[in-house]
Amino acid sequence: MKEVRRKVCPTCKKPIQSEMVNSKFRPFCSEQCKLIDLGHWLDGTFSIPSQDQLSEEDVESVVRHHQQKELGEDQETDFSGDPNNPDAKKDELS
Ligand SMILES: [Zn+2]
Repeated sequence: MKEVRRKVCPTCKKPIQSEMVNSKFRPFCSEQCKLIDLGHWLDGTFSIPSQDQLSEEDVESVVRHHQQKELGEDQETDFSGDPNNPDAKKDELS
């Protein structure tokens, strides 16, 4: 099986040419992009390693998850999404 799926550089989002796919920088288009991404990792910009490059949506959800975590433990007592919680029902009716 050939790797003919279109890939883009996770850093600069440029399409990666097929000959680049076999480069040592993959999945990045260049050493520079690889190093930039490495910098992001070190910064903690990304927290979940993936074999595939992350789509923008993936990155967004990771960042959001990260932010929610940083809000702290207090959020655990938020039952507004629980249908069994009378307070939540009251909220919906009003
Ligand atoms: Zn690139």
